[in-house]
Amino acid sequence: MRFPSTRGGCEPATASEALRAGLAPDGGLFVPETLPALSPAALDPDLPYPERAREVLAPFFRGDELESGLPELCRAAFDFPVPLAPLSDKVRILELFHGPTAAFKDFGARFLAGALERLQESGDPPRTILVATSGDTGGAVAAAFHGRRGIAVRVLFPQDGVSERQRKQLTCWGENVSAYAVRGTFDDCQRMVKEAFRSPEISGRFLLSSANSINLGRLLPQTVYYVHASVLFLRETGEKPALVIPSGNVGNAVGAYWARAMGAPVARIVLAANANRTLPDFLTEGIYRPRPSVRTLANAMDVGDPSNLERLRFLYPDLDTLRREVCARSVSDGEIRQTIRDTFRASGRVLCPHTATAEYVRERKLPDSPAIVVATAHPAKFETVVEPLIGQAVPVPPVLAALLDAPSRCETIDPRMEDLFR
Ligand SMILES: *Cc1c(COP(=O)(O)O)cnc(C)c1O
Repeated sequence: MRFPSTRGGCEPATASEALRAGLAPDGGLFVPETLPALSPAALDPDLPYPERAREVLAPFFRGDELESGLPELCRAAFDFPVPLAPLSDKVRILELFHGPTAAFKDFGARFLAGALERLQESGDPPRTILVATSGDTGGAVAAAFHGRRGIAVRVLFPQDGVSERQRKQLTCWGENVSAYAVRGTFDDCQRMVKEAFRSPEISGRFLLSSANSINLGRLLPQTVYYVHASVLFLRETGEKPALVIPSGNVGNAVGAYWARAMGAPVARIVLAANANRTLPDFLTEGIYRPRPSVRTLANAMDVGDPSNLERLRFLYPDLDTLRREVCARSVSDGEIRQTIRDTFRASGRVLCPHTATAEYVRERKLPDSPAIVVATAHPAKFETVVEPLIGQAVPVPPVLAALLDAPSRCETIDPRMEDLFR
């Protein structure tokens, strides 16, 4: 399998090349040249998750350096549960928050980390992963790369821009993971990373890679849980579910569109955005107007210029088709609060603010449809929002508690790229 760039300005890459590179050389994003039909084994409801991952991902790695290692890669990356929990008669919640940092980004980050470690041969110079984060991404990437041979990670975060629990998850690692609290904003952190990639001096000293959500190695594994969940849903209810997905950069949703194109039994896909309305407005108006992000309660979705939209536009090059296939709604902070409160009252279920956007959209747009609401994070990560609304404490899951108890290590630096490499 080959992976062309969405912009068509360079030679298609192999899977391994795309994983190492992150961004395509022409500035586009790598996409599969075809979306291969799922094998009968991939659609078997009884298949354990790691084996399903191997079945779904195999065609993408056929003929690649990583082909023979894929089964072990999947076993090691996906060693936590992926439950489909009941919310009501026809509605299930896909809990993607049982990995080490309690958010769905663990799936992609763990797969990418395992793959890059395998691709590092013993004689290779060490690779350095740079990641700027405003919260969840940095934690998942740090956790996934911690202890990997031949790979170091530098995580940058705005000193005053992350919650206390997020900070703990960024600074508890040590060894090959270094955390930098930057005296500046998230934009400063991103600028420092970009400057480092452009600097001949830094690229002479370090072999740099990125692990942000445009990396193909994070996207491909996000198809697997949609195949898994829809197959289980179909067996249980006899119906194909709609998928409702909390979306920011739209990487998680791209996994769903690819899974459906490969033959996963999915009726339709609906995206929930927070008050950052770039995507819903684009679909309504047909004109793309990126804008600065605004802060919301669902902060991992605070994106004003969603980069993975480029992959959806590649999948549906015709604007009318895109607008028919992709449906997105914006949800306000008030609606998020109300949904967390109402859902808890009606069912006892505690939703994180991101998951609440999806449940709000499902209730309004698809009240009577069989549906899967995608839960992207554990509510205990957002306790300052959730607990006052439900009037009680959210128990912290053991994986998260262990991270929160570990000692913190981090260096505070000025927002200058050079300070990152002193
Ligand atoms: C990153 C994130 C999202 C948004 O996912 P995208 O792939 O950027 O659309 C939603 N919820 C949580 C909890 C996240 O961490």
